[in-house]
Amino acid sequence: PVRVRFAPSPTGPLHIGGVRTALFNYLFAKKNNGVFYLRIEDTDQTRFVPGAEAYIFEALEWLGIAPDETVGKNEKFGPYRQSERKEIYKQYADELITKGWAYYAFDSADKLDELRKLAESEGKTFIYNHTVRETLDTSLNLSEEEITKRISAGEPYVVRFKTPVNETLHLKDIIRGEIKFETNLLDDKVLYKSDGMPTYHLANIVDDHLMETSHVIRGEEWLPSLPLHVLLYQAFGWEAPEFAHLPLILKPIGNGKLSKRDGDKMGFPVFPLEWKTEEGTSMGYRENGFFPEAVINFLALLGWNDGTEQEIFSLEELIQKFDLVRVNKSGAKFDPEKNKWFNHQYLQKQSDEQLAVLFEKILTEKGISTTLDVKRIVSLNKERANFVNELWDLTDYFFVAPTTYDEKALKNWKEETPELIKQLITVLESISDFTSANIETIVKEWLTANEIGMGKVMQPFRLSLVGKMMGPHLFDIVEILGKEETIKRLQKAVD
Ligand code: GLU
Repeated sequence: PVRVRFAPSPTGPLHIGGVRTALFNYLFAKKNNGVFYLRIEDTDQTRFVPGAEAYIFEALEWLGIAPDETVGKNEKFGPYRQSERKEIYKQYADELITKGWAYYAFDSADKLDELRKLAESEGKTFIYNHTVRETLDTSLNLSEEEITKRISAGEPYVVRFKTPVNETLHLKDIIRGEIKFETNLLDDKVLYKSDGMPTYHLANIVDDHLMETSHVIRGEEWLPSLPLHVLLYQAFGWEAPEFAHLPLILKPIGNGKLSKRDGDKMGFPVFPLEWKTEEGTSMGYRENGFFPEAVINFLALLGWNDGTEQEIFSLEELIQKFDLVRVNKSGAKFDPEKNKWFNHQYLQKQSDEQLAVLFEKILTEKGISTTLDVKRIVSLNKERANFVNELWDLTDYFFVAPTTYDEKALKNWKEETPELIKQLITVLESISDFTSANIETIVKEWLTANEIGMGKVMQPFRLSLVGKMMGPHLFDIVEILGKEETIKRLQKAVD
């Protein structure tokens, strides 16, 4: 059975790239009737950030891709927080030592620094591996007695993986195909520290095994760890899951990975939700008025497509169509402008009722109570909006009569205009069926009968109601404002 996981470290707000990883895991799980679980990888206590864990849950919840199993939910393989699994990792670190796959190393930080500098001075990079492990302060070099003595004296140590020598690993990645690694180029990575904490590598492999993970789907930045991870499965005698490393998400302009700074500089969010610290607030997609469906949609297309030109996908459709084999190897450019386009599309999909409810909240915040038909106003204007709050700039004149008039448009305000407006008022007063089409017919009949040019009346008419030359069909505006308000505004314009 398919069991996949999202395994974030709560070291800060969840980045949009992390959300993409979560989404691809979610889609793969649902597509295959599998389970999507979330494990909190919080073994590096120096990088722990309060609030980050709650943020992760809230973000996935908002996006509609909450895990099936996690902390506090269907804890079948719990605990799902690594900091609560310390004893488990100790046992497995010991097992690797007993089997000869790992060893104790007592080298001090100073000693390691010295070795690194020495290598650098010779133009090389220091690799802690078979070339040095038998000559340094390790259990491969020291007597049994000496090792026991040092450990019981409380000397700090680490447990390192004993990387096999002279092997070429042929590893498989679902997206990248076969990848070769030379074991001689690998470090003997630290797996466990004497402070009782495993490193990411050990905890990750032990948990992926114990939690019966079938596929590991994660960002490309973890590809260099793949050989070690596969070797660890071998060392334990466990069957390894399948791996898929997702392409990087690239900056909108220039090269390299999308970073928080790109967002700050260019004014777009790189986080799903707002994140507040003493240093300031980072923008979030939710607070910026994005629909979660739009965020899901643009994230899905960062590195994946279904082979057609289709761009709009519902979550249900994504589940049906998603396939890891169709994920690209090369990086995916992040495009904040296109993201707005996606939101525009989803805004058009909302019903006028739904949009009216959202827009009425904004009106209330602005202290506006209205008897106007907000649903109709929204319906006539949504085509030009990417976000619900943009509706305000598009429609504010409905709720607040203009106090100034666009200067350029005023150039068409001629000497004869006030007189024409007065006549127009009389015409409007006589209309009893005050609906858009009927008003239009009657006004136009009046214009024709009196041989008055359309522009002479229509432009000042719009200007009097709106304050500028914009907005939907004029007679729709007239109907929505109603007879009384329309005449009031016309009157004000000529006074
Ligand atoms: N804790 C790692 C992270 O923060 C998990 C990487 C993995 O999926 O193996 O991304």
